[in-house]
Amino acid sequence: MERLQFIAGERRAGAGAALTITEPATGAEITTGAGADAADVAAAVAAATAAFPGWAGRTPGERSDLMHAWAGLLRERAAEFAAVESRNAGKPIRLAEGFDVPGTIDNVAFFAGAARNLEGKASAEYSADHTSTIRREPVGVVGSIAPWNYPLQMAAWKILPAVAAGNTVVLKPSELTPLTSLLFAETAVAAGIPAGVINILTGTGELAGAALVSHPDVAMVSFTGSTRVGRQVAATAAGAVKRVHLELGGKAPFVVFDDADLEAAARGAVAGSLINVGQDCTAATRAYVQRPLFDEFVGRVADLMDRVRLGPVDDPTTDMGALITRAHRDKVIAMVERARDAGAKVVRGGRIPEHTPAAGHWFEPTLITGAAQDSEIVQQEVFGPVLVALPFDTDDEAIALANDTPYGLAASAWSTNVFRTQRAAREIRCGCVWLNDHIPIISEMPHGGYGASGFGKDMSLYSFEEYTNVKHVISDITAVARKPWHEVIFMAE
Ligand code: NAD
Repeated sequence: MERLQFIAGERRAGAGAALTITEPATGAEITTGAGADAADVAAAVAAATAAFPGWAGRTPGERSDLMHAWAGLLRERAAEFAAVESRNAGKPIRLAEGFDVPGTIDNVAFFAGAARNLEGKASAEYSADHTSTIRREPVGVVGSIAPWNYPLQMAAWKILPAVAAGNTVVLKPSELTPLTSLLFAETAVAAGIPAGVINILTGTGELAGAALVSHPDVAMVSFTGSTRVGRQVAATAAGAVKRVHLELGGKAPFVVFDDADLEAAARGAVAGSLINVGQDCTAATRAYVQRPLFDEFVGRVADLMDRVRLGPVDDPTTDMGALITRAHRDKVIAMVERARDAGAKVVRGGRIPEHTPAAGHWFEPTLITGAAQDSEIVQQEVFGPVLVALPFDTDDEAIALANDTPYGLAASAWSTNVFRTQRAAREIRCGCVWLNDHIPIISEMPHGGYGASGFGKDMSLYSFEEYTNVKHVISDITAVARKPWHEVIFMAE
């Protein structure tokens, strides 16, 4: 039995029910252990509470040095992290080595630097009788909850801005994919970050997640996951008037105008929709293609999808891995079947691929046309390797269709006309618009949604807005007992 909790700087066994961690690609068991229950949550929050004054009291420079040391250790262990991530999340080793792990290390290095850039406004006399200064203070113990699609990157996005700003963290990764989060926290302690600053609870959402959100000593909840669970988390936090940061689902449009570089758009659509088997909140899911290009776009995407290689995730030639669980694959299959029943055409894929392990959760790259704009496959998050392509006629229509879901996380527009791309950037309502690309993320730049995709930012200096309180300190500079403003209250000499 593996000890799946990391509390106060050490691995511990949970007190909850047994958990088995499996490989999505093969169904094979990786390890077993006990999940966290409410007592483990209490112990982790107590460890984070105890560590908070010391960590918040470190200078930004001290926190920065420790985080740089952490980035160094992660670089040394990059291959190990990639192997564990690939196996536990069912993703090709090329993706883990080329995206998940280097992206995380870059995030750590970025926040090591950013720790020294926390600042408020300059002091000034906004009133003639006072000097105002701004203190930017950590919020306290942050309860973070992460999903299974990019386990290491999501752990990093939750932990890094919080600890760089002087908070301490209790992170609950998905119970399906806790392994790299545990390694990540262990490496932090090995780099000298004090025990208790980062704690990891492996447990279910219903038990450990809910207990973490409602714990009275958790000052803030930072959640990445589905819109459905995000709503519940926000409702619980509202009861205690806790600060909440929500990064939720997405349904990104991919708008191709008739002057686009068609080859670039087709390649972008395949990479953008199939990344991480489509289990990416920013994945391209709705390709709106101007009618003169539509048939050729569909043909090119279908041809490229035929060339996507499915295979063992540790094989460096494998392009696409497996979905996370059998239940999730069943959901993806059911959504594709309902689209077919409603009259859509499945141009490519839509089936369980041959020659993949039967106990794994594989699904073919899938391209759908002929779906109605108001149908489930166009409106709801599939979170699988499924791209729907629909034609449009006018630019106005394209923008309206792109905005026609409750989500607002990301979008892309493809055109060689700068006026069209700039209009799309301006008028599509979401947190990130790519122009002639789709997917790349950057540590220095924010990630976050509008509407049903949540609020608040991950990465970048903007994330400090979530993880700090702004305090106004207002100092009298008159040095007199009878202050001028007292006149409006009482006039006694
Ligand atoms: P999920 O909402 O089912 O679970 C997310 C996390 O919440 C897990 O750790 C889970 O155990 C926990 N949880 C479940 N019920 C809970 C409860 N009642 N109280 C507290 N915690 C609870 O999501 P998922 O299936 O793990 O991940 C996929 C979803 O995450 C997709 O909707 C995807 O779009 C979203 N996502 C969003 C972003 C973003 O940045 N916006 C990034 C990655 C994933």
